[in-house]
Amino acid sequence: MKTQVKALVVGGGAVGTSIAYHLAKAGWDDVMLLERDELTSGSTWHAAGLLPLFNMSFATTHIHKYSVDFYKSLEAETGLNAGFAVVGNLRMAQTQERMDEYMLYASTAETCDVPYVWMTPDEIKAKWPLIRTEDLKGAIYHHTDGYINPADVTQAMAKGARQRGVMIERKWQADAFYWTGDAWEVTCTKMVERGGNLVASDEQIVITAEHVVTASGNHAQTTAKKLGIKMPAIPVEHQFIVMDQDPELVKFRAEGNVEHPVVRDADAQSYVREERGGWILGVYEKGAPAVFEHGVPDSFRADLFPLDLERIEEQYMAMIHRMPSCEESGLKDDFNGPICYTPDGNPLVGPAPGLRNMWLAEGFSFGITAAGGTGYYLAQMMVEGEADIDMASLDPKRYGDWMTTEFAARKNEECYDHVYILHHPDEERPACRPLRTSPAYDRQAARGAQFGFVNGWERPNYYAPMGFDDHASRSFRRGGWWQYAVDEAKAVREGVGLIDATAFTKHIVKGPGATAFLDWFTTNKLPRVGRINLTYALTDHGTTRTEYTIVRLKDDEYYLVSAGAWTDYDADFLRKAVEDKEPEFGRIDVQNVTTQWGVFAIAGPKSRNVLNAVISDADPSTALSNKRFPWLSAKQIELGMCPVNAIRVAYTGELGWELHHPIEMQNYLFDLLEKAGEPHGMKLVGARAQNWLRQEKSYRAFGTELGRDATPLEADLPRFVDLSKDFNGKAQMEAKGSRSKCVTLLIDGPDDADPWGREALYDMDGNRIGRLTSGGYSVAFEKAIGMGYVKPEMAVVGTKVQVKMLDQLWNAQIVEDSPYDPKNATIRVDG
Ligand SMILES: Cc1cc2nc3c(=O)[nH]c(=O)nc-3n(C[C@H](O)[C@H](O)[C@H](O)COP(=O)(O)OP(=O)(O)OC[C@H]3O[C@@H](n4cnc5c(N)ncnc54)[C@H](O)[C@@H]3O)c2cc1C
Repeated sequence: MKTQVKALVVGGGAVGTSIAYHLAKAGWDDVMLLERDELTSGSTWHAAGLLPLFNMSFATTHIHKYSVDFYKSLEAETGLNAGFAVVGNLRMAQTQERMDEYMLYASTAETCDVPYVWMTPDEIKAKWPLIRTEDLKGAIYHHTDGYINPADVTQAMAKGARQRGVMIERKWQADAFYWTGDAWEVTCTKMVERGGNLVASDEQIVITAEHVVTASGNHAQTTAKKLGIKMPAIPVEHQFIVMDQDPELVKFRAEGNVEHPVVRDADAQSYVREERGGWILGVYEKGAPAVFEHGVPDSFRADLFPLDLERIEEQYMAMIHRMPSCEESGLKDDFNGPICYTPDGNPLVGPAPGLRNMWLAEGFSFGITAAGGTGYYLAQMMVEGEADIDMASLDPKRYGDWMTTEFAARKNEECYDHVYILHHPDEERPACRPLRTSPAYDRQAARGAQFGFVNGWERPNYYAPMGFDDHASRSFRRGGWWQYAVDEAKAVREGVGLIDATAFTKHIVKGPGATAFLDWFTTNKLPRVGRINLTYALTDHGTTRTEYTIVRLKDDEYYLVSAGAWTDYDADFLRKAVEDKEPEFGRIDVQNVTTQWGVFAIAGPKSRNVLNAVISDADPSTALSNKRFPWLSAKQIELGMCPVNAIRVAYTGELGWELHHPIEMQNYLFDLLEKAGEPHGMKLVGARAQNWLRQEKSYRAFGTELGRDATPLEADLPRFVDLSKDFNGKAQMEAKGSRSKCVTLLIDGPDDADPWGREALYDMDGNRIGRLTSGGYSVAFEKAIGMGYVKPEMAVVGTKVQVKMLDQLWNAQIVEDSPYDPKNATIRVDG
C-alpha cells in the first residue's frame, strides 16, 4: 500500500468517492481514498436516492445541478448503470403561501439555469390520476431530476476514480493527523471484524499526504476530535417506509403509463416515490432525535435504528389522503438511519479552521444529491485555489468557536424538522436562543426588539409593539413587520436612529510588520493615523475574500472591522496570511477583539445633536464638527463616563458615528444615549431598515454583492482599489477582467412585495442578463430597490430591465450608484 500521496480522502461514502474522482479528473495523480469499512457502508447505503434540484440557495443549487448532470454521464464513462430514474420531481402546494415560496425559488432556479414548469391541479390529475388534487393550489415540476441508486452511483464514481488512478483502500481507519509543516502524517489503523463489530487491530501505517480531505459522514464528531477542531455536524434519525404493492398503481403502470415523479407534499412534510408497484414514503417529522453526539459506537456499522411509526403517523395519514389508493397497502420494509445535519442544513465544505491543507466535506443531509457537485467544486478549490462559485455559504468556519455539541445537536434537530416548513426569507428559527447576547439585549427586548440570529448573536431586526408576533408576520411578500422597518428607515433619513452593530467582527493588527503586511493584504491605500478607509482583502484569484473598515490607531497599529456573520471565516484567513508573511514583513500580532467591544451606530441628521449633549469635551459644541471630527476619521472620545472609539462613518449613508465601546459599559452607554436622544425623537433601528438604507447608497454587503465570485472591480468599487501599489491578488484580479458588473436598480414592483435579492434579471426582450443579490424597499424613492450583477454591457445608468418576482416580470431601471444623496452631502454636513 502506498504511503506517500498527494491527497488522502478519508471516507468512502458518496461524498468522499466523488471528491477522489474529481481530484483525479482535475489532474492530481496520487490520490488515495481510505474507508474504515466498505464503500457506501455509512449513510450512503440506506439513502432513498432522491436528487431534488429544488434548493433556495444559489451555491447549493449549482452543486445539485452539477450532480444531476454528472450522474447522467457516469454510465457512458464507467459502463456501470447507477440506476438514475429521471422521473421528475413534483412539488405540490396546498396554500397560496407555498406557491409564493415556489415563485421565489423559481426565480433563483432561473439564475442557475435549472428548468421547471408550473402545473395546475387539473393538469396533475390528468397526468397522474392517483394523486388527490382538489385541495391543491398548484405545483412546480422539475422534469430533469428524479432518483438514483445511492450505492450504485457511488460504485460508479469509485470505478471512474480507479480508472483515473485513484487508490481505494478499504478497512483502514484514519486515526491521527500530524502536520509536519509541509504535509500531513496520517496514522491509519487496520480495521478487523470481531463478533460482528468493526474494531481496530494493532496494525498501523503512516501515510504522508500533502492534502487531506475528510468526508466521514456520521463520524464527523470523532473526526473533529482527532483534528482538534469543532464541527457542528451531528446526525439526526431519518425514516422512510416501503409499502407493499398498490393494485391501483400496478394497474396504472400496466396500462402503459410512465412512472410517477417523486411527489413532494411539502405541507404534509413528506415525499413519495414508486418502488416496485408500491410506494416509498419519506418524512421530515417533529421529534426526530440527534444521535452519535459524541461519536459512533463500534457496534454501529451499516445498521439502522428501530422504526418509530408513532412519530410519523401524521405524515402517514397525510399520504393516504394524497394517494388514497395506498390505504390498503401493508408495510413491506422500513429504514430509520442517521442522516448528518448542520444547524443551517448546508454541509461544511472547505478549508478546516486553523489547519493547513486540511479540507472538510462533512455534515451532508442531501449527500447523494450534493456529492457530485461537492466533489467538482471542492476539487476546484484544492487544485486551482478557488471554485467557480462562491462557496462561503458552505464554509466550515461559518460557525465559530462558541459552538458546542449541545447547540449543534438541538439546532440540527430543528433543521431537520424545518426541511418542509415555508422557507420565508425573513425566517428566524427559535432553537438554542438566546445564546450570544450583548449586554443591551434585555433593554432592547423590553423596547420591542424582534431579534435575528447572526453567527450566534442576537441582533435586533426591527422594533415592534410589545406582544407583536414575529412568526405570524413572516411572508414572501411584505411581512407584518414591514411598516416598522419603514418607520425606522425614515427616522434615520429625517431624524436620528440608534442601531446595535455589536456583532461586527473586530481585529487588532499591530507590530513592526503590520503596516507592510496590511499594505500587501488589502487593496486600498492604508489610512493615516486617526483616519479610516474601506478596503478589500482578495483571494489568490483576485476575488473578494473580506471587506474591512480599517482604522489606523497608531503608526503600526490597526483596528479592522468586518462583517459580523463571518468572524471565524475572516479570522482564519487573516491569521494564516500573517503566519505566511511574518518572515518577510516582521512581527505582526493579531488579536480577535470581537467580543470585547460593543458597537452602536448612531445615524441621522440629528445624530450630532444627540452626541453633543453627552460628549465630555472642553468645547462640546465643536467636538463633532467637520473641523475637529471630519468624515472618515476616528477619535477616542468620552460619552459621559464611557470611553468610546468613535468612527465617523454610517452604513446608512446619513450623518453618523459608529461608537465602539467597552462591552461591559454597554448598558451605561445605551441608557445615556437613549436619554439624550429623547428630545430628538431618536428611534431604535434594526438590521432590516439598515439593509434597505445601505442599498439607497449602493453600499455593497459581504455575502451578497461581495464574495469570492467577483472582484472588487466587478463589484464596481475601483475607488477602493489602489492600482498604483502591489497587493495580494492584484494581477489575478486584473486578469479576470470584467465578467459582470454590480448595479443598483429602482424597481416598479408589485404593491405588496419587494425583492429579496435572489431574483433573476431580464432585458426588455426577455433575455436573462443577471441576478439580484440584495433587495428591499427604499423610503427615499418610495419603491422597491435592489442591487445585483448584470452583464457589463448592460450596466449603463438609465438602462431599463425587468425583475422576475412572483412569476412576473416587473420594470426596473439601472440607476447611478448611491441614488440617494450621490454627492454624500448629508454624511458630510457640518455642525
Ligand atoms: C433514511 C435516509 C434517507 C436518505 N435519503 C436521501 C435522499 O433521498 N437523497 C439524498 O441526497 N440524501 C439522502 N440521505 C442522506 C444521505 O444518505 C447522506 O447525506 C449521504 O449518504 C452522506 O454521504 P457521505 O459520504 O457524506 O457519508 P457516509 O455515506 O456516511 O460515508 C462516510 C464514510 O466515511 C467512513 N469513515 C468515517 N470515519 C473514517 C475514518 N476515520 N477513516 C476511514 N473511513 C472513515 C465511514 O465508514 C463511511 O463509509 C438519506 C439519509 C437517510 C438516513
